[in-house]
Amino acid sequence: MQVLVLGAGQLARMMALAAAPLNIKTIAFDVNSESIVEPITQTKLGSGLAAAIEQADVITAEFEHVPHPVLDACQASGKLLPSATAIKTGGDRRIEKALLDKANVANAKYALIRTRQDFEQAIEYVGLPMVLKSTLGGYDGKGQWRLKEASQVDAIWAEMEQCIASSAAQAIIAEEFVAFDREVSLIGARNQHGEIAVYPLAENVHTDGVLSLSTAIDEPQLQAQAKQMFTAVAECLDYVGVLALEFFDVKGQLMVNEIAPRVHNSGHWTQQGAETCQFENHMRAVCGLPLGSTEALRPTAMINILGEDTLAQEILSMKQAHIHWYGKDKRPGRKMGHINVCGNSPADLQQQLQDIAQWLDASAFPALHQK
Ligand code: ATP
Ligand code: MG
Repeated sequence: MQVLVLGAGQLARMMALAAAPLNIKTIAFDVNSESIVEPITQTKLGSGLAAAIEQADVITAEFEHVPHPVLDACQASGKLLPSATAIKTGGDRRIEKALLDKANVANAKYALIRTRQDFEQAIEYVGLPMVLKSTLGGYDGKGQWRLKEASQVDAIWAEMEQCIASSAAQAIIAEEFVAFDREVSLIGARNQHGEIAVYPLAENVHTDGVLSLSTAIDEPQLQAQAKQMFTAVAECLDYVGVLALEFFDVKGQLMVNEIAPRVHNSGHWTQQGAETCQFENHMRAVCGLPLGSTEALRPTAMINILGEDTLAQEILSMKQAHIHWYGKDKRPGRKMGHINVCGNSPADLQQQLQDIAQWLDASAFPALHQK
């Protein structure tokens, strides 16, 4: 079995690492250079989409911003899972919001903006403060504005107008600002028979719009809500593969912020913390194999390594810390790797996180030092 992943970054790499023990071979297609590469070593294997599709038994994606002609060609081959429709939904906040409404899951009140008049009407309808997001191309908090008071309208409109003008398909979504208590996410898998398995929720801390810390939590009431919403969304899309839902927790009531039609950064903890990791379960789902157990093995958290390419050697000696580098060149703020930390109990996990914090720079790992 050979799986082609659209995108050749760390998610493709970790899918390949998880697939190998199942005798599933993975190749990756870099959509920018059109190169076919080995996802772990980045060795070039060939080039061109047609050749990549030809070699694959199954095609999947590591990100939702795949150019539509690429998705359409893969869909036409009959090998793409999840479907082009599901991937496009994750890449366009307009379609995503319509899906959330169709699936009848709670999400922030919103309005669509293409003109200054739309903007004025959105302010009336949604109210201030509001969050404004480009409908296409946003990630890690990029392509967003926060509108708190009327005096900011002209300056923000000037930037939004440029963004809208960049592409005929581009627009802005205005969302009510949700005063959440915390952010959580649910990662789960659905296979071709419609079977669903979800992991425990993770609680997520973002720093400057980028995920910095994810901790698996055991909260049955919240978990049940999240699973119901996951099932509604996954069934609406007839989804196959791993899917992530990001939520706002507002006093114990969940609202979906966004979906990601792929393995997700807030699910990396499953590599050490769950019976089967998200990467293996994605490969199982798209290859038509039974899903692996999503049960948690022990309390686990994940720390993102942003913009650093070295860590203190002492961390390697810690019994319950596991480092995963992505083999990428260092750039400020770039996701370079992550550390999964396990504990024997939730309190022990917090202790482990404090122990590891002493080896990690407070400015580079603020979420850990705030604990
Ligand atoms: P990523 O790809 O990293 O998940 P993104 O760029 O797709 O991020 P969002 O997840 O929509 O964007 O937003 C980034 C962060 O901004 C959220 O995790 C949340 O902290 C905050 N945020 C987004 N929407 C709202 C909202 N309506 N109200 C309050 N905060 C929000
Ligand atoms: Mg997000």
